[in-house]
Amino acid sequence: MKIAVIGGGPSGSVAAALLAERGHSVFIFDQGRRPNTLAGESLVPGVIPILRKLDIEERVAAISVFKPGVSFYPGGGKEFAFSFTSLPRKNPQYAYNVPRPAFDNLLQSRALELGAIKVNIKAELHSSGDRLLLSPDTLKSVNAWQGVQPDLIVDASGRRRMSSKLLDIQSETGPRRDVAFFAHFQGFFPETPSGQVRINRLSNGWSWRIPLRDKMSVGVVMSQKDAAELGTSSAERLEEAIRRDPILRKESKDLQRVSEVRTYGNYQLIAHRGSGKNWAAVGDAFGFVDPMLSPGMMIAMDSALLLCKELERFPIQNALESYSQRVTHELRSWMDLISYFYNGRIFELHDAGKAFQNQYHYLPLEFMESFMSRNMAGMASGFTTSSPFSRGVLKNMDRWVLGESATDQKYAII
Ligand SMILES: Cc1cc2nc3c(=O)[nH]c(=O)nc-3n(C[C@H](O)[C@H](O)[C@H](O)COP(=O)(O)OP(=O)(O)OC[C@H]3O[C@@H](n4cnc5c(N)ncnc54)[C@H](O)[C@@H]3O)c2cc1C
Repeated sequence: MKIAVIGGGPSGSVAAALLAERGHSVFIFDQGRRPNTLAGESLVPGVIPILRKLDIEERVAAISVFKPGVSFYPGGGKEFAFSFTSLPRKNPQYAYNVPRPAFDNLLQSRALELGAIKVNIKAELHSSGDRLLLSPDTLKSVNAWQGVQPDLIVDASGRRRMSSKLLDIQSETGPRRDVAFFAHFQGFFPETPSGQVRINRLSNGWSWRIPLRDKMSVGVVMSQKDAAELGTSSAERLEEAIRRDPILRKESKDLQRVSEVRTYGNYQLIAHRGSGKNWAAVGDAFGFVDPMLSPGMMIAMDSALLLCKELERFPIQNALESYSQRVTHELRSWMDLISYFYNGRIFELHDAGKAFQNQYHYLPLEFMESFMSRNMAGMASGFTTSSPFSRGVLKNMDRWVLGESATDQKYAII
């Protein structure tokens, strides 16, 4: 098949790599302009099998920081430290924190090594019914296709969401309308264990700290209204949020910002469908859940992998339909899981479990705790996020232990 991939971010590069490897004629259209600082630095363990499939894990490890887990600080002096070692041994029990532009370059190089060809232009698309077409100028840039439209267009345009916008596809949205500011800093105290990502609740949102080589990526996420109260520029808002938070203030000294500050509208959005007659959307172009739990890069790369698998299994039309349904399910499952972190019920569940153990100390309840930890680790790592069993366990535990009624929301993020 002739395949045009629009966008050379992680989703586009993985799609291009895997499709080119299978012998298709693949062209990646990429604008080639990438800021030095890009969000999407903390990976989940579910990405590791994809890196191995692409045979680039060693190259990624060489530029990244080993990530053993994530610690949450939901308030009240509590710390909930998740280690990926609680995952079953058949799964990789770690992930990486990656320097984003360099990681993207690595994925792109791999796609080119496997036979994809890169065209350094901003691709233009048109629509005809439910079909996407390359504009005459964009098509002309691929001599090899001699003016013939591709059989498949992969929309990997990220938040530009070209397919949804051109075809007027509506989206389902989540409850949060936050804004995020982030930058790289020096002066934060080292984390324990080394490489651990730290998420802490702020008085009006939450923050991340992602250790990278020689610096810390620090981001704050909050409502637009709360952000406006912190200053006028993005830099003022980020630095003021850090100054105001007791944990961030206490765990840093002589802070020095070593990158520009980037601002992202952090919407939760899933397109009603991610494929059509001759196209499929991968990664953010299909949906973006939320930075909480860092699922974006995994979904970007996994959706690309899933597209290739479905194209191998079925004729193209059935493959595209099945693909769209599966990714919708994956995105919704992440959205669902993340809601337990925003409303704080995941931590209340943990507290309630501990209280139960203390009350019934004569019963062998430890196995329940390790079962629950494994279930959570599997879901938050991307391996079992969409599994009906894991989702059912979480939902039922929530109902049985905390009940249907509203809890005191002491860990909820506002
Ligand atoms: C605040 C914030 C924090 C985040 N943190 C994390 C995290 O810690 N971990 C994580 O896993 N995810 C995180 N994410 C999500 C992650 O950044 C994205 O999910 C991921 O970048 C999606 O990859 P993609 O390839 O789909 O899109 P992108 O990375 O956006 O790539 C799309 C590419 O397509 C190019 N393009 C677009 N249109 C055209 C065109 N017409 N022609 C040519 N090129 C085009 C763009 O220039 C861009 O390079 C975060 C997101 C936000 C907002």
